Amino acid sequence: MGWIHETDTHLHEAALVAVFEDGAESHASTMVDGADYEIVERGRTSSEDRLRPSTEIVGWLLRCHCGRSNSSDGSSWTDPVQWTRVPSASLEDLARHRVFAPDADLDVGVRAEVAAAATAVWRREHLDPLDVDGEIRAAVTARRDADAQLDAAVAKARRLGRSWAEIGAATGMTRQAANERWKDRT
Ligand SMILES: [Zn+2]
Repeated sequence: MGWIHETDTHLHEAALVAVFEDGAESHASTMVDGADYEIVERGRTSSEDRLRPSTEIVGWLLRCHCGRSNSSDGSSWTDPVQWTRVPSASLEDLARHRVFAPDADLDVGVRAEVAAAATAVWRREHLDPLDVDGEIRAAVTARRDADAQLDAAVAKARRLGRSWAEIGAATGMTRQAANERWKDRT
């Protein structure tokens, strides 16, 4: 269960991935005899999965799976700063990536304030730097479309008999500049 960000070309899905003291990461959680476990290594069958008690979680990594909408290729991004599990509510400091999670409530990503802090990091460190490229591409396309529209309007004005001085006035250019820009195209 994670957070989704969709663009024209990509689908990003981020989540906090539980980690253990030795760096092992959780792939999913499961329940055995009423106790919660994390699957740290998948076996050929679920009975061969390697499990760790969920209570041994020491922190979380913020990870995004970045897929392209039109293909099965994907990549992933992991924030280098790990979120640390702290043992009491008074030690929690989300701005410093310190999260309180009692043994009975280790699914921290569902807490609204943790989700807000994690998605803010995700946006700032991962999505914004990607989106700015898309914003530039969109602006270049919009500028090209606007230029084509202006060329067509000027051509129409010439067909209607407007002078270069009138066209210059309408476009905020001098007569000469308007003439030089469009004389070969109209
Ligand atoms: Zn991503």
